[in-house]
Amino acid sequence: MWSPSETPRPEQPTGRQPTVLMTAVKAGRVNQGRVLQALHDLGPLSRADLARLAGVSRATIGSIVQPLLERGLLAEGEPQRGATPGGKPARPLWFAPDSPPLAAVHLVPGWVEAALVSADGRILAAASGRFRVTAPAATVVDCVVDRLNAVLAGSAARALGVGIAVGGIVESTSGTIVACNLMPELSGLPLGPLVSERVDLPVHLDLHPRAQAIGDRWSGPGRGEQSFASIYIGEAIGAGLFLNGAIHCGPAGAGGEIGHTVVDVRGRTCRCGQRGCWETIATRDWLREEAARLRLPAAQAMTTALLAGLSAAGNADAKELFERYAHNLALGVVNLQQILAPGLFILHGDVIAGGEALRGRVERQARSQLPPRSAAEPQITFGSAHDRTTLLGAAGLVLSQSFPLVG
Ligand SMILES: [Zn+2]
Repeated sequence: MWSPSETPRPEQPTGRQPTVLMTAVKAGRVNQGRVLQALHDLGPLSRADLARLAGVSRATIGSIVQPLLERGLLAEGEPQRGATPGGKPARPLWFAPDSPPLAAVHLVPGWVEAALVSADGRILAAASGRFRVTAPAATVVDCVVDRLNAVLAGSAARALGVGIAVGGIVESTSGTIVACNLMPELSGLPLGPLVSERVDLPVHLDLHPRAQAIGDRWSGPGRGEQSFASIYIGEAIGAGLFLNGAIHCGPAGAGGEIGHTVVDVRGRTCRCGQRGCWETIATRDWLREEAARLRLPAAQAMTTALLAGLSAAGNADAKELFERYAHNLALGVVNLQQILAPGLFILHGDVIAGGEALRGRVERQARSQLPPRSAAEPQITFGSAHDRTTLLGAAGLVLSQSFPLVG
C-alpha cells in the first residue's frame, strides 16, 4: 500500500539550503516596506506616482497601501487637481498625523537617550540620562526604562515598538548584548526582553552602527542612495552597510564589526584579543596615546578639531600625526571598498570635528590606495555633528522589522 512517506524526495546536497520562496504575507510586508521607503525618499506620493515608480498597476499599489491606511500609518492628503489629466484628482499618501509613533533608545557607555519619533521621522520628545560605565546591569536597565517611560508618557497613541541601538556584539534575534568591551557589566544581558517586559511593547535591539545607517538612509547623507557604508569612529569603530537598496545584516545581527578586521599582523593587541585590528590604530585612545608620545599640547584631551588646528598652525608633529590618522582611517575604508564597493562612506563620531581638512585627506588617501576605477571612486562624507542619526535609526529599526525590505 502506498503511503505519503514513501514518496521519493529530491535529495538536498549536504550543507545547502533549499530555495525558499516568500509567502504572500511576507511579500506583502516587503512591498509595504518599499512603499514606506519611497515616501521617506521622495515625500508625499499619490498611488499613480507610486505605480509609475514601481512599474505596476494602480490596483496593485492600492492593495499594497490599503493595510497601511487601515493600520493608521498612512493617510490620504487633500485631492490635487490636475495631477492626473482626465482622471480622478490624485490624493497624495503620507504618514498620518496621528500614526502610531516609534520609540527609540541609543545606549552608549555611561549615557542613554530615549526618544519618541513620528513615522515620518520627527523627534516628538526626548529624554537622556547618565550612569557610571561600571554600573550594574540592573541600574542600566532602570535608566533605559525610566527614560523610555518619560517619552512614552507624552503620547496618547500606543507606540508601534521600541528600537534599541547599542555598541558591542549583539544578537538581534534574542535582543541580547553578547559582549560589550566598554561596558563589561552588560555582556550577556538580554536587554531587549527585559525592556519589553517593563514597557509592554515589542523591542528590537541592534548594533549601533547598523541603526546609524538606517538613520543615514532615512534623513542623512544616505537618503535616496542604493549603497553606502555608515562608519562610526570614536571610542570604538563599527560599520552599518546599506547595500543594493537594503540594510545588510548577518545571522542574528552579525557583521559590521569592521573595527576588528586586522590591518597590521604585527600590531598592538586589541581589546578583543586579536593583534592589529583597525581599532588599534584609529580610535580616540590611539590618537591620544600618539599625541602624548609626541608631547603635543592637551594630548590627553586631544580631539580631531584640536589636531587639525595645531596642524594648520604649522606644528610639524601635529601635521605628521594628522596625516597618519587620515592614512589609518583610509585603510579601513579601502578594505571595505575592495570587498563590497559601497562607494559612499558616511563617517560619524570623532572624525567630524576634523572638518574638511580631515575629510579631504581621508578621501585622497583612500583613492590613492585603490586601483583607478573612475566609476567607483570612494566618496567620503561626514554626518552632522549634532544630529540624532542613531536615535532616528533606532526608531527606524521598528519600521524595518515590521516592514522588511528583503525577505
Ligand atoms: Zn579587535
